[in-house]
Amino acid sequence: MYRQPVLKNRRTLLERAEKFISDVYFTDCNLRGRLYGDSCPLQSIASFISPKRIPFSEASTQKFEPYTVGDTFGPTWWTCWFKVTLTIPESWRGKEVHLLWESDGEGMVWKDGHPVQGLTKEGEKTSYILSDCLQSEDPHSFTLYVEVACNGLFGAGQGSMIATPDPNRRFSIHKAELVIFNRDVRELLTEFEMLVDIVKELGEREQRGYQALFTVNEMVNRCDPTDPSSFSEAHNLACKFFNQRNGESQHTVHAMGHCHIDSAWLWPYEETIRKCGRSWVTVISLMEKNPEFTFTCSQAQQFQWVKSWYPGLFSRIQYFVKKGQFIPVGGTWVEMDGNLPSGESMIRQFLEGQRFFNQEFGTYCKEFWLPDTFGYSAQLPQIMRGCGIPNFLTQKLSWNLVNTFPHNTFFWEGLDGSQVLTHFPPGNSYEMKGKIEDLVKTVKNNKDKGRANHSAALFGFGDGGGGPNQLMLDRLRLVQDTDGLPRVQMSSPDQLFSQLQADSSLLCTWTGELFLELHNGTYTTQAQIKRENRQCEALLRDVEIASSLALCRSKTFSYPQEKLQRLWRLLLLNQFHDVIPGSCTAMVVEDALKYYEDIRADASILLHEACEALGSKGSTAGLFNSLPWERQEVIEIKDGPGGLDLVLVEVPSIGISTIKAIQPVTAVSVTCQADGTVVMENGILRTAINQDGTLASLHLINANREALSDGCRGNQFVVFDDVPLYWDAWDVMDYHLQTRKPVEEVIQPVHVVSSGGLRASVSFTLRISDKSTIVQEIVMDAMSPYLKFNTKVEWAESHKFLKVEFPVRVRSPNATYEIQFGHLQRPTHWNTSWDWARFEVWGHKWADLSEHNFGVSLLNDSKYGYSIHKNTMTLSLIRAPKAPDSTADMGAHQFTYAIMPHTGSFQDASVIQAAYNLNFPLRRMQCHPDTKAWSSFSVTKPVILETIKQAEDAKGTLVVRLYESHGSSLTATLCTTLPVKEAWHCDLLERRDPARPAHVTSDGIMLSFRPFQIVTLLLVL
Ligand SMILES: [Zn+2]
Repeated sequence: MYRQPVLKNRRTLLERAEKFISDVYFTDCNLRGRLYGDSCPLQSIASFISPKRIPFSEASTQKFEPYTVGDTFGPTWWTCWFKVTLTIPESWRGKEVHLLWESDGEGMVWKDGHPVQGLTKEGEKTSYILSDCLQSEDPHSFTLYVEVACNGLFGAGQGSMIATPDPNRRFSIHKAELVIFNRDVRELLTEFEMLVDIVKELGEREQRGYQALFTVNEMVNRCDPTDPSSFSEAHNLACKFFNQRNGESQHTVHAMGHCHIDSAWLWPYEETIRKCGRSWVTVISLMEKNPEFTFTCSQAQQFQWVKSWYPGLFSRIQYFVKKGQFIPVGGTWVEMDGNLPSGESMIRQFLEGQRFFNQEFGTYCKEFWLPDTFGYSAQLPQIMRGCGIPNFLTQKLSWNLVNTFPHNTFFWEGLDGSQVLTHFPPGNSYEMKGKIEDLVKTVKNNKDKGRANHSAALFGFGDGGGGPNQLMLDRLRLVQDTDGLPRVQMSSPDQLFSQLQADSSLLCTWTGELFLELHNGTYTTQAQIKRENRQCEALLRDVEIASSLALCRSKTFSYPQEKLQRLWRLLLLNQFHDVIPGSCTAMVVEDALKYYEDIRADASILLHEACEALGSKGSTAGLFNSLPWERQEVIEIKDGPGGLDLVLVEVPSIGISTIKAIQPVTAVSVTCQADGTVVMENGILRTAINQDGTLASLHLINANREALSDGCRGNQFVVFDDVPLYWDAWDVMDYHLQTRKPVEEVIQPVHVVSSGGLRASVSFTLRISDKSTIVQEIVMDAMSPYLKFNTKVEWAESHKFLKVEFPVRVRSPNATYEIQFGHLQRPTHWNTSWDWARFEVWGHKWADLSEHNFGVSLLNDSKYGYSIHKNTMTLSLIRAPKAPDSTADMGAHQFTYAIMPHTGSFQDASVIQAAYNLNFPLRRMQCHPDTKAWSSFSVTKPVILETIKQAEDAKGTLVVRLYESHGSSLTATLCTTLPVKEAWHCDLLERRDPARPAHVTSDGIMLSFRPFQIVTLLLVL
């Protein structure tokens, strides 16, 4: 029987219950004040400080100095090791004993040489349990080590989280002692807290909220904090409430523990390794006590780190993976950025990830897991499907600044029509705490009510916060099936998606990309990382192709599989969703650039070795063309008799030839006009260049068509103020467009550098400000369909955005942008909020604006940010954000873009091929003097042969990957001069489809394609 409340006053009852468990008020007499019993000081603490992150074996042998609690240590990024000796008082028999450790930084307890528990105040983990119930025969004395990293969960931002890290921060231990922990008080506190939260979350409209209110009020009446024997009465009241069951129709929340660990962000890669160790060891010890507890964990790279740094922990993880509690998810090497990596890079993310999970845990992931990225390529569904993945979990679109995404559970249909079942946890978080608020939000926010009756709730502190804690598990356990709340079950992605799939008939479909209406500056920030990524992607591709060909041409050549795997993994690591977007600190940038240097150095050697084998170690200058079409290009020979010589050469499709000069159909001419403009012409294009480097005209000769808009100037540099609301490196806001200023100050006007023949070029210098300049060479080559802009910028700005504009004489409501293995269209108008929210978009090597029978393409060699509004095509070049890296993008930049007017469609005009040509230089090599021009592969035009590599599991078998690039259905022929014995279709993980042999005839291999379809073959040699 409940006692009648004195007055009908909801507020006093609610606040009374809140105060009864408050950790601020009335702790002298409330229940919270009883959580801990007696305490006892430690016997001794001594410390040793290290600038490096060293292993335990090394740390434990160092000389430790006495340490007094409260003393400071540091600075930032150092590590302080503590040696702790303690003896538990005899009188604590029968009690639960904790080492209470409240400190700054991130801690790890080591016992008997093994990591046993992470300690982070920010992640609500401040206790290490020494004994659940102390017995007299138990050891009472211990020596422990605590390794404290001098950084917070989110690094050490000076003033705000994303500010540049403070290098001189000091750290301290605030409390280190032994305490008796009253488990019965904790359990009762949890019941109180959950009831109070039910009252608050269900509000005044729900009958059930009042039942919770009267229950919790009566619990306060019955519970005497000083008398534990009164607890059971209060507990029974709580049980009665929580055990009132739901009806069958209630929504089910699939709770999964999680700890989102950014592979690098506001801290360097090396610290992430320890974040994983600290977090996962904590998760494992929770699993030992809570057999129902499940934890999802992504990113093969992090498992690989833990495997090599914490082998003991890794084998315990393997044990819990087998038990189904520790669940590897995602299938990728890292949680990569969803926009910028190339198509092949995305496939390699899955190839390396899935193969790692299969090798270490005997399973392939069935879901892609990417909660935190700044957009999702429309090609991802096909790539997922090809890697054995039918399901996708993410949630970042809840960050959209303008439009609310309409679904939580839906089918996502990609560019080629592939579909994946997709779920956005409706709670809009991947760091829930198991609270009532989380559960209510999950049900309330679900935009597919009546269509999907299952949702995920990911709970646990991220970024090294150790993931879930016991309290979260206790909370969720209490409300597994409580009337008025969603049903809660510990679950796995597999269970969730099976349930969603089983009842999916009412689900909606979203077609095309998932564009994030925020963080659009990340297509441009940290230009050097972007450039290195693009060039290293090209380099690794070429090494693989050259090595594959060398394998066929030379008996002694061995394919550098392990070396290539190492380099790919470095490249994939830098594609992490805070590295390639440029949203990381200077330390991370430094590491990333070092990895790129490593890739370049080693890959160049591998390319050289492969080319040597291809060219039979000859001494005649030759060229290797890795692209699947014949190329005629002007190249520079630096070792020519006159220093720098130009030659027009021809190299066959995926093949080699010696350098042999051919004559152009039309030579390039340069004329300086009386008005100071310079006119260049190559038979295809004619352009007039003003003194300030802008284009007065760009004429497509055969079509007699001017490409530039009347009275407008092409190649116009413009600078914008670029001050976002908060996320500095991430965001460029709509209002920056109102601050456009053309760069007009000429330091050195246009003058001729190359005077025609094979190449005409002019150079000029502009001043952006007193600190920043642009030097550009505009190049027109014989036979080239595009005009090239080789650009050098000295950049020392603050919160400015440099772009270049081409107002063109084309009218179209849509522009086309290259993405992974294809292209898509986005509007050039701002009709609806969905249109104008895309004022800054991403694309890869080219973008095109075409009307019927004419268009202009803008190509680039290392940029990703575009905006095409009305008839102005703009390429984003350089930003200058100051957080989290205050030096971001300062200094020298070098990049090339090109403009290509064309008749017909961009498909017919070979824009795609031109953009490949701009990005994949002909590689110099040495051949035997009598080497005949040789082509290994060629393929019908709209199909692009993207990849040739040795199969992962079969020496002497090549993997060849092609895609349809125009968006058409067709049959194509792949021709090869290699001795192919048999050919098989396989998936993107290179698993042969025994039902689909590919027919090899004397004419080649006939293949059929759907629009944008990726086809992978195994060629047995
Ligand atoms: Zn993240």
